[in-house]
Amino acid sequence: MDLSWTSRQLSIRAEFASLGSRTDRDELRLGRRAFDQQTWDQLGGAGLWQMMVPTDFGGTGVDWWDVTAALEGLASTIRTPGLLLSVIAQAGMAYALDLFGTTAQKSDYFRRILRGELSATAIADPDTGTDVRASSTFLSPRANETFVLNGRKYNIAHAPVASFTLVVCKLEGHARDGISLVLVDQNCKGVTIGPQDRKLGNLDLPTGQLTFEDVPLHYGHILGVPGEGLRNLVRFVSLGRLYYGLVAATLCEPMLAEALSYAKTRQTFGQPIVDHQYVQKKLTDMRIAADSAKWVSYGALHQLLSGAPEAVMSCSIAKLAGASAITDGAVDLLKLYGSRGYHEGEVSTFLRDALAFCSVGGTEEMHRRNIMNQMMRKARPAAKAAVEPARDLETA
Ligand SMILES: Cc1cc2nc3c(=O)[nH]c(=O)nc-3n(C[C@H](O)[C@H](O)[C@H](O)COP(=O)(O)OP(=O)(O)OC[C@H]3O[C@@H](n4cnc5c(N)ncnc54)[C@H](O)[C@@H]3O)c2cc1C
Repeated sequence: MDLSWTSRQLSIRAEFASLGSRTDRDELRLGRRAFDQQTWDQLGGAGLWQMMVPTDFGGTGVDWWDVTAALEGLASTIRTPGLLLSVIAQAGMAYALDLFGTTAQKSDYFRRILRGELSATAIADPDTGTDVRASSTFLSPRANETFVLNGRKYNIAHAPVASFTLVVCKLEGHARDGISLVLVDQNCKGVTIGPQDRKLGNLDLPTGQLTFEDVPLHYGHILGVPGEGLRNLVRFVSLGRLYYGLVAATLCEPMLAEALSYAKTRQTFGQPIVDHQYVQKKLTDMRIAADSAKWVSYGALHQLLSGAPEAVMSCSIAKLAGASAITDGAVDLLKLYGSRGYHEGEVSTFLRDALAFCSVGGTEEMHRRNIMNQMMRKARPAAKAAVEPARDLETA
């Protein structure tokens, strides 16, 4: 087992760290107000989209460790999650296409990804949220192998600005199973894009609602087999889950370094606050949580790419570990900085943004359900577990 970056990956990491450090720090202090198209274009210019696309479709070949090096480099300096969440969404789309796309779908959508067009993945329904299998977004078969799509999605990253969306829906006539995945162009007849959500933080990540009314589709729009989308969905969202864990952990790094410097200079009771054990606890808690999340994320990526069955559980653990590191860490930082932390600025912005990790990529309760289900599955006799349906996979 080799747990180190290659020299190429180190240089990718350094290049994207440099790119992240050039983003506008003044906007950061107040929280960005709009999608950062300029940095997005620079990511494309530095070859990030090519790294996610196979050579047959114009990319440099898919190497998820290279993408991970770039993402981690960017996360180490950019200081705000919004654009990282956009990259994760794009990576998830490229991964889904690579795994399950037909040649025609790959050549169309990879071309658009290479051009930097934004994609969206619409899983959450306003009425059913976490419970994906209860979705009331339906794909209904019509004559001549055509379909219509009806339903609503909410809280969707890029919905107001995406060029195409992968919609998670249910094949009509199926009960809780029958999950299907369809690729829908944003300008397709019957698609209505809602206004941009007003959120607590991550203002540079435009999210919103999508409504589908008799959207005409055919087999060419369906990713994978209609009605058998749940396993595919879990497989490609798993990449996003471990990436949420990794970026959350990496975003803590510079905040922690600055907090340590601050704690060394801020004096109370005649000594720097870093000498108080309760302050040390906050700093060490954040270090332990961030390192744990980072290493479980690497392990989860290794398992996912090697097809290990444990990957589903490890990706949930990575997401949960990262979400805890950043949300608990952000609250601890606010306390460590005293009233300065509560003023408008980097620490309070960090807290506002960090809280998105409570639900983006799935809530804590959903991931715990997933982990429990996987533990139960592992404890069952092998033959029985292999034939059972995908009922024990949680998705939202
Ligand atoms: C910044 C941001 C970006 C997002 N981007 C996307 C995106 O691109 N695509 C997308 O599809 N979604 C996206 N989401 C939405 C996110 O996936 C959902 O918020 C999430 O799935 C939870 O759904 P919900 O908000 O409807 O919560 P609900 O399902 O209403 O849940 C409410 C609460 O009940 C808990 N709960 C529900 N069921 C159970 C249970 N059985 N046991 C215990 N507790 C339970 C939940 O954990 C939660 O705490 C995004 C969210 C954010 C904040």
